[in-house]
Amino acid sequence: MEIGPELLERWDKEHFWHPFTQMKVYREEENIIFERGEGVYLWDIHGKRYIDAISSLWCNVHGHNHPKLNNAIMRQLCRVAHTTTLGSSNVPAVLLAKKLTEIAPEGLTKVFYSEDGAEAVEIALKMAYHYWRNRGEERKVFITLSEAYHGDTIGAVSVGGIDLFHGTYRDLLFETIRLPSPYLYCKKEFGELSQTCLADLVMKLQELLRARRDVVALVLESGIQAAAGMLPYPKGFLKEVRELTKKEGVLLILDEVATGFGRTGSMFYCEQEGVTPDFMCLGKGITGGYLPLAATLTTDEVYEAFLGEFGEAKHFYHGHTYTGNNLASAVALANLQVFEEENTLENLKPKIDLLTERLKEFWELEHVGDVRQLGFMAGIELVKDREKGEPFPYGERTGFKVARKCWEKGVFLRPLGDVMVLMMPLVIGEEDMNYVLDTLKGAIAEIG
Ligand SMILES: *Cc1c(COP(=O)(O)O)cnc(C)c1O
Repeated sequence: MEIGPELLERWDKEHFWHPFTQMKVYREEENIIFERGEGVYLWDIHGKRYIDAISSLWCNVHGHNHPKLNNAIMRQLCRVAHTTTLGSSNVPAVLLAKKLTEIAPEGLTKVFYSEDGAEAVEIALKMAYHYWRNRGEERKVFITLSEAYHGDTIGAVSVGGIDLFHGTYRDLLFETIRLPSPYLYCKKEFGELSQTCLADLVMKLQELLRARRDVVALVLESGIQAAAGMLPYPKGFLKEVRELTKKEGVLLILDEVATGFGRTGSMFYCEQEGVTPDFMCLGKGITGGYLPLAATLTTDEVYEAFLGEFGEAKHFYHGHTYTGNNLASAVALANLQVFEEENTLENLKPKIDLLTERLKEFWELEHVGDVRQLGFMAGIELVKDREKGEPFPYGERTGFKVARKCWEKGVFLRPLGDVMVLMMPLVIGEEDMNYVLDTLKGAIAEIG
């Protein structure tokens, strides 16, 4: 029996429960089932072509079906697909650990693998908590930011701050101390991301750190709160936070899952502020968007707190079946190699400038309330009334409707509520970029 588009579409609706998706609505609509990709393009089962303008949820880097990445997997596949790393090791995972510590900010010398961004964060939380215990200190509270997003497992949800995603599970979560989202706070209290606002935020954090002696760590996304709708921090915020946490003896967990691997113009955002955190969480772009892999990088100081005789039981009791998977590690290594061979970061610079330039045009549109950008990441916020700052009603799905219009014209987008997200693969050409921007602009202009 030939399994064609009709059956696939039927079975998709009958059996596949999709993430972050209202299935009642999904089943009533026509959806895209992707079949193949090449560079920045994806084709669905009807042969329609789309530009992947969200990098397949923020992870694709060098394009789909890249010969060097494909080869890395095929070469590894002919050796072995998976071997455990619980107490043993494998070749690509070793090489990748070495490579990651070379490109990471100085001082991050140890790599702990997992499979998804949420796990990378979960591991950082457990390690930080365990670190203090191994040092004989009982600390139990994390400081987090409102509007933060660190993934969907319970620990990661506990340190998250988006009520729509996290509110339901409140009773299951551990307590944290939540500071305001820097972007929203600065806009509300100071009208902009000013240095005065930065000083005010830093003061708040300092008071908090001085008042509490039981803080395990401060957890935050690096440079921008991405899932909240692309809310950047004031420049210098990370640097100030690093200095304060160091001074007050609190660990800093930096989530670079979205910002890592070139997305902000440098390999990791924290480089731009000269910051080395105690933990750096990586995911998404680590394999160039090929296979699930994540990593939690940390320092010698943290690592050494877990060393002891076996009987002391100080070691980190955590691991997953596929931790340090051979295929994923092999393609992650190839991903980093392609960064060098194709001069990805250097070639990205003019594209970031083009994006900045073209984003200015969006202010001309009646329903655009805000335009935000960090490097190659951008969010365009749609509002019903810009003067009054009035959003569209949640149930109207305005962002989604705009995205659908773009789908019709061959641009694949997925918004965050009414924030239109642009996260194009770093390899995209200027012509395709302009097409994406023209299409999105046209679709927003059509809102009634
Ligand atoms: C996507 C994301 C995560 C979660 O990663 P998953 O791989 O989806 O679990 C965590 N933190 C940030 C900043 C993210 O953008």
